Amino acid sequence: MSSTKKCSDDVRVFYEDLSEYDYQDEDAFTDRESGFYALWYRPAYTRLNVGWLEAGKPYATGTVPTAFVEKLKAVQEAQWMNVCLGVHECDLCPEDEAPEGNGEVRIPGEPGVAYAAPFLITHYVTDHGYRPPQVFIDAVLAVDLDAWASARWPDVPFPWAPADAERMLE
Ligand SMILES: [Zn+2]
Repeated sequence: MSSTKKCSDDVRVFYEDLSEYDYQDEDAFTDRESGFYALWYRPAYTRLNVGWLEAGKPYATGTVPTAFVEKLKAVQEAQWMNVCLGVHECDLCPEDEAPEGNGEVRIPGEPGVAYAAPFLITHYVTDHGYRPPQVFIDAVLAVDLDAWASARWPDVPFPWAPADAERMLE
């Protein structure tokens, strides 16, 4: 990451589902193959929060399609974004068993809207019964996974990264 890009160490945050995301000004995508090529930009699209859970705050529960969980995991294999030095530990698990997540997920929704989820969202779904909004489930199922998985630098697995994004080539 560039030295000008700030990441908070304390990334334990709570947001209502589908509220507007304002946690980081910029969206940054890191090339998974190299691990250090990165691009970042101030998004023209609106970002909506999904899955920012915290202990003590109620959240929606329910079953989700298996295909959704599998697809979300595959998306997280392909996409690496807003990876910071700070990690986000699951707040809902007992402390000594809590998995950690680093980074976020971006999923395109309707034109001009992208969903912004923490990396731990899959864990919340599988281990804590969290049910994301249906619009998010539909958006994940609509991802062109083949295109995302085959994206190679300077392309990244997200269709709305602008061509003029700043790029860092270490
Ligand atoms: Zn947990």
